Amino acid sequence: MKILISADMEGTCGVSSWVHVQAPEVTSANQAASTVEYGRFRKQMTEEVNAAARGAFKAGATEIIVNDSHDFQRNIVIEQLDQRLTYISGADKRLGMMQGVDLGVDAVIYTGYHAQAGTVGGPLAHTWNTWVHDVRFNGVSTGEFGVNAAIAGHFGAGVIMVTGDDQAVQQTQDFLGDQVTGAVVKWGVSSSSARHMHPEKALALIESAAERAVSGAHGVPYVLQPGTEIQIDADHQARIDQMRLVPGVTRVGNRTASFTVNDGLEFSDMFRLVMKVGGLALNT
Ligand SMILES: [Zn+2]
Repeated sequence: MKILISADMEGTCGVSSWVHVQAPEVTSANQAASTVEYGRFRKQMTEEVNAAARGAFKAGATEIIVNDSHDFQRNIVIEQLDQRLTYISGADKRLGMMQGVDLGVDAVIYTGYHAQAGTVGGPLAHTWNTWVHDVRFNGVSTGEFGVNAAIAGHFGAGVIMVTGDDQAVQQTQDFLGDQVTGAVVKWGVSSSSARHMHPEKALALIESAAERAVSGAHGVPYVLQPGTEIQIDADHQARIDQMRLVPGVTRVGNRTASFTVNDGLEFSDMFRLVMKVGGLALNT
């Protein structure tokens, strides 16, 4: 069984602030603090990937690829990685957080995932960026766990496990079903606060969860049906003006854009394009 680990960072044990997950050169928080704090948590992020890989290999995984899926996607400390893994680093990949899933992958594991935008008490909860308020598939609200499941599903891979805060795990299971094994490494207190287990205990929990996930039933791919309507709510009406410049995108609300897709790859391409265009500076 070939596995892709999509490694995000906000859901890592010990993380509760942006200063923990933003590199000093890109941080919107305190740069000096980021130099120390980001350095600490990229190591924990890497160890959580290693823990998931150990469990998966124990249960019979034959090959594991890890795709760095956070921010500029060069967070994992490569020299600290389990030597059996191969590592995809860097940004502007066509499949984004799911890069590598097209390489014959059977199942996907999410590590360090966070709750979707607008989640009360979800530490660092967001979807994709700071200005998306919601993403819906045929009216059903979702987060990055759903966006990425739709891309994986196109390539025949199902999501079998998620690690992160309690609501990230719950939302992923609510959206994709009980086939997803959860490892809760912290419990959200507020948008910027969490109660954490000890990071070493988090690693043990992740390892055993991955072992169970890989030895259990295979994840059922989440496949978008032809004609699925995608809606995106933004923070500002001008973003929808910009998104509408993309052929096929219409406004269905003051701050809501809509488009339809026929499969997960078309969704991935359109979503990335619309996010780029919507993210261009507003002339306000
Ligand atoms: Zn994320």
